[in-house]
Amino acid sequence: MFIPKTIYFEKNILDYQLGKELMNKYKDIPKIEIENHNNIEEMRNKENKEFPYMKRNLIIGVRKTHNFVKNHKTSDYLVPYTSSGCTASCMYCYLVCNYNKCAYLRLFVNREEMLDKIIRTADKSNEELTFEIGSNSDLILENSITNNLKWTIENFKKSQKGFLTFPTKFDMVDDLLNIDHNGRIIIRMSVNPDEIIRKVEFGTSSLYNRIQAINKLADAGYKIGILIAPVILLDNWKTLYSELIEKLSIELNNNVKKQVFFEIIFMTYSFIHRKINEEAFPNAINLFSADKMRGRGKGKYMYKDDLRKESEVFLRDKMKKYFPNNKIEYIV
Ligand code: SF4
Repeated sequence: MFIPKTIYFEKNILDYQLGKELMNKYKDIPKIEIENHNNIEEMRNKENKEFPYMKRNLIIGVRKTHNFVKNHKTSDYLVPYTSSGCTASCMYCYLVCNYNKCAYLRLFVNREEMLDKIIRTADKSNEELTFEIGSNSDLILENSITNNLKWTIENFKKSQKGFLTFPTKFDMVDDLLNIDHNGRIIIRMSVNPDEIIRKVEFGTSSLYNRIQAINKLADAGYKIGILIAPVILLDNWKTLYSELIEKLSIELNNNVKKQVFFEIIFMTYSFIHRKINEEAFPNAINLFSADKMRGRGKGKYMYKDDLRKESEVFLRDKMKKYFPNNKIEYIV
């Protein structure tokens, strides 16, 4: 269970029910009032090596921007929702590109406004729209602190149309199993080989627990996707990923297998990640490889084209062998 070291809070969270509940839940934790969750000077001035300690704090505020961004992968819109950042510390975390070392967990208490806007947009549309509500955080993790996901699923029933979707690397799904989700929630579990989870995805759930969580969610009638992501090409990548795909084919149950779709995403990395990881996790493995990677835009890296192509062919081949009836939505 996550117990914050310090709570940083905007005063107006007390105008919201959830704000009051959280302040009461953490009444014994030291608190610091802030003007704006986006700009905490004390945090900005910390050194990179403090990154994992910064993640022990919890920031609570009110979300001010509610712009939906069009998307063309597994959803129609990316929607800013009830949190950003995370208490875990995956060494490649995409949020570090946006928030740098300030990728700690921020909770937003104005959930009614956010869900209302989704429901209005869904109901107004002629098509069934899918809203990605987890692109800025991990909502299963957040739910273990706020119950927001359970609340969201129960209240999304007011909508006659549309789907909500989000990815996760966590296994705390028991609260979601016995609620009425109306078939309108698509939960996408992100997986990686055990060795990568242990060495790179600090603070997330084990592969075994993630697989058990997927099985439980499928048994509870949720729509399920699996992200093999991010694919990290360590020297033994062929062994790692063929073992992973075989393991999934053995341990996923039939309720998963008859419906699951896959997304495969190769790791991108950046200069910011390198700097933070070198200082914050000096004994961890180095995810940057000059032999295997090339530049991609300003300060970013991706795998070189030949290696990328070889690994895509390899992964497609393994997926065809172990999951011949399941769709790969995309490989990027
Ligand atoms: S679980 Fe997701 S949001 Fe959290 S650190 Fe890992 S990649 Fe980032």
